[in-house]
Amino acid sequence: MLNKLRLLTPGPTPLPEEVRLALAKDMIHHRKRDFVQIMERIQPGLKYLFGTAQQVLPLSCSGTGAMHAAVTNLFAPGEKVLVVEGGKFGERWREIAQARGLVVTSLVLENGQAVAAEEVRAALTADPALCGVLVQASETSTGVLHPVHELGQVTRDKDVLLVVDGISAVGISPCPMDAWDIDCLLTGSQKGLMLPPGLALLALSARAWDKVRSVGPTDFYFNLLAERDKSLGHQTLFTSPVNLLQGLAVSLDLFKEQTLEAVYAKQWALTSMARAGATSMGLELLATTHFTWGLTAIKLPTGIDGGEVLKVAAERCGVVMAGGQGELKKSLVRLGHMGHVDWSDVLAGLYALREGLHAAGGYCAARTYLEDAASAYAEALRDGCPEYRA
Ligand SMILES: *Cc1c(COP(=O)(O)O)cnc(C)c1O
Repeated sequence: MLNKLRLLTPGPTPLPEEVRLALAKDMIHHRKRDFVQIMERIQPGLKYLFGTAQQVLPLSCSGTGAMHAAVTNLFAPGEKVLVVEGGKFGERWREIAQARGLVVTSLVLENGQAVAAEEVRAALTADPALCGVLVQASETSTGVLHPVHELGQVTRDKDVLLVVDGISAVGISPCPMDAWDIDCLLTGSQKGLMLPPGLALLALSARAWDKVRSVGPTDFYFNLLAERDKSLGHQTLFTSPVNLLQGLAVSLDLFKEQTLEAVYAKQWALTSMARAGATSMGLELLATTHFTWGLTAIKLPTGIDGGEVLKVAAERCGVVMAGGQGELKKSLVRLGHMGHVDWSDVLAGLYALREGLHAAGGYCAARTYLEDAASAYAEALRDGCPEYRA
């Protein structure tokens, strides 16, 4: 192996050494004192990360499991929900809701487009039976950031629940649950949290808990009321991925030390860097105005095979990036810059992208793309990230 492996995908993401060492600890028993101590230790860190005073529940599943848990606990079959379908993960919300027997109205967006809060308001006004809005904070398949803060104002006015898949946003870009009136916020371990896959986290607002009580438990494994009771006693319903929780404790300590503000500023600077580098190479970006801070979706010139670009980048440069999903599979490269990555990884990603493009027969315009990327990074760090009201 001549190259270092650089995992620049939108999950799983590279792990810091501190986390890897925590994962290697001896097994402990999930009903004994050592485990209780971990559960006690993670709760304040989770509340800080989510921006909430509510209990944040660890669930033993991938991120999709938490999406399923949210839908089955918050809504009864026959209820109506509005789904923002801006890509593959919006589609997933619809599929989960339909599997639960919900009546779904979809706002289908073009690839690369964010939902407009006014569109959501209009849809809720047109059908007062809609009792929830399901959306991604960051649509990972297209690299779009939806305006969750504005959606929170709409759903609060309309007395409708706002359910947010924050899997590629939590710990990456601002998504403060309480301040933004989010009723359900969930994430998975393998994206911003710098952990292996297999653990999900979910929190509900007070009015969402009221709704869960009125629906009543119907899912044996994902029984959030029972899980919450356990969690208040620093326990979990079933045998948890103990090692992941040990890793989580360390990851949360890192967020606390670094502060969320500094992490967001870094993510913003990495995003600026990736965008400037790709643009300078003569490539177009899929999301032009509302883009996420943990990955950059880059369009490939027509006729270039994305599979070949990724193959060369991985084999020649050691950089693993992702293609598009669904119909975008071959026409997109998604350069991930979430989790434990820094400026040098993004520079490597841009270089590998150019190598891949070159091998696949693509034209590469500017020779200064790495310098342009580095300047954009420095400028973004100096100017700071866009403000948000926490
Ligand atoms: C990764 C991701 C998922 C899927 O998570 P799994 O852990 O694979 O189940 C869902 N939504 C978004 C926005 C994601 O980025």
